[in-house]
Amino acid sequence: MRILVLSDLHSNATALDAVLEAAKNRWDLSVCLGDVVGYGPDPNEVTARLRELKTQTIRGNHDKAVTGLMPTDDFNPVAKAAVDWTHAELKPEHLAWLAALPPGPLESEGIVLVHGALEDEDEYVFTPEQALDGLLDSTAGVTFFGHTHHQGGFSYLDSQLEVLQIRPRASESFAALRIESPRRYLLNPGSIGQPRDGDARAAFAIADLEHKVVEFWRVPYDIAVVQERMRAAHLPEPLVQRLMVGR
Ligand code: ZN
Repeated sequence: MRILVLSDLHSNATALDAVLEAAKNRWDLSVCLGDVVGYGPDPNEVTARLRELKTQTIRGNHDKAVTGLMPTDDFNPVAKAAVDWTHAELKPEHLAWLAALPPGPLESEGIVLVHGALEDEDEYVFTPEQALDGLLDSTAGVTFFGHTHHQGGFSYLDSQLEVLQIRPRASESFAALRIESPRRYLLNPGSIGQPRDGDARAAFAIADLEHKVVEFWRVPYDIAVVQERMRAAHLPEPLVQRLMVGR
């Protein structure tokens, strides 16, 4: 069973299309770690695509904010403007689908999915200290998380926590991580729609636990056409600019 792991799509249909093209014939089942919408110009297209693919999806904080399940008091003005625009733009049937998404943690095919942290779906996991609870308490050896938009992760064995620098170089499409049991893993596939780890290419992962490997992928996409659609929709300029730098 090869699992396509998608996260933080953020209404970027061009990036999602590039990901699906690169991943073609390489997966059997797809999962999504949340933040389907928010920031980008294509909330209806991206939501429709996940529904067509029957992607097993948990909710992210932007999905909650857009559907009114979470107040936007903690959002900065730029993110809040995108939330309001997205809410107005989404078709009622897509809004209803997003509002019904389950929270993590969700176990699927032997892996656990969370948006932020294991205990708190809205918490960011950047540091080894923040990763420890998820590594120790997850019900599966391999747990995927999103929310930070940073591809990579952590592993744990015999009281030793390791930070995994596992991103493909600019000249490469993917980097493979060998999964060793009983080592435990907390892995982030990176963001499709708004990467923030310094690489502007769309990020995703493919997990094949039978063959004990997780591939971390990066694919280029036409950023300029997405920026054009964002400007046409009057989405905030900082959101438009950051796509090009991947920060
Ligand atoms: Zn996000």
